[in-house]
Amino acid sequence: VKSLAKKFSAKGSKTAHAAVIGAGIMGGGIAYQSASKKVPVVMKDIADSAIELGLSEASKLLGKQLERGKITADKMATVLNAIHPSLSYQAIGNSDVVVEAVVENPKVKATVLAEVEQHVAETAVITSNTSTISINQLAQALQKPERFCGMHFFNPVHRMPLVEVIKSNKTSEATVATVVGYATQMGKTAIVVNDCPGFFVNRVLFPYFAGFCQLLADGADFQQIDKVMEKTFGWPMGPAYLLDVVGIDTAHHAQQVMAEGFPERMAVTYEDAIHKLFSAGHYGQKTKQGFYQYS
Ligand code: NAD
Repeated sequence: VKSLAKKFSAKGSKTAHAAVIGAGIMGGGIAYQSASKKVPVVMKDIADSAIELGLSEASKLLGKQLERGKITADKMATVLNAIHPSLSYQAIGNSDVVVEAVVENPKVKATVLAEVEQHVAETAVITSNTSTISINQLAQALQKPERFCGMHFFNPVHRMPLVEVIKSNKTSEATVATVVGYATQMGKTAIVVNDCPGFFVNRVLFPYFAGFCQLLADGADFQQIDKVMEKTFGWPMGPAYLLDVVGIDTAHHAQQVMAEGFPERMAVTYEDAIHKLFSAGHYGQKTKQGFYQYS
């Protein structure tokens, strides 16, 4: 990574209308965050049920704030009205920035990105929230790759302050500036990084997880490690709990990508705890069993 992470002061064009493709965990979160920071957003999916789920998550988050007296009922309605659900691409026509957040499958993403490009203005910027797929590879799906880059949010979107903006070899500076600007409008801090396996955050996080798994292989107890990292080292959560939150399946996939990208550093040469949980179908909080059990 040439420029590992550099703070970027936003000078790009302001985003008046946004769109997110995919109304899942991330798409729903991105739509909520955009709407709550006054950038109206189209939330497009292929399934009614997904859209309903995305909207109900936004309602839940707003409902909690209403209960705590942090927002008024009017504000809640305004935010919800700024999320425009749709099953059709026609709705994204006036978007300044589009965030693709569909399933982590390169073929599906390439199809979606090409479809998006056919339905937006020449000036629109198109981004992908992929965690692990090369931005240079995805850029090949576009006729104008200079208008494309990665825009990697973290889960849960409303709480995690960082957004990685990932440049391909062809991304223009204007595109980067617009996306950094949109992240800033959403109340996030953007860092601009070059394309490589793991981008920035996972290059830091996965060696940490590898160290954690090596300790377990050496006989350490995951709860003790979490306790030390959380209570005495002062991090918000320890590695086992963090892996359960991220999802063991997601972590397992990212681990493979890192091992392929950096075989000499990241290849796992012992029976790794992430792999064991993954093989047992224990994916963390989403399956109610990971390192910990959830009721
Ligand atoms: P998810 O499975 O919750 O949601 C994916 C959504 O995409 C579903 O609602 C599905 O119906 C929809 N979809 C599938 N094909 C589509 C299409 N052709 N057009 C429109 N919608 C379509 O997945 P997620 O966890 O939200 O992940 C989405 C993306 O975000 C992935 O690329 C993932 O790697 C990335 N990401 C996930 C996390 C995380 O912690 N979950 C964090 C950062 C980035």
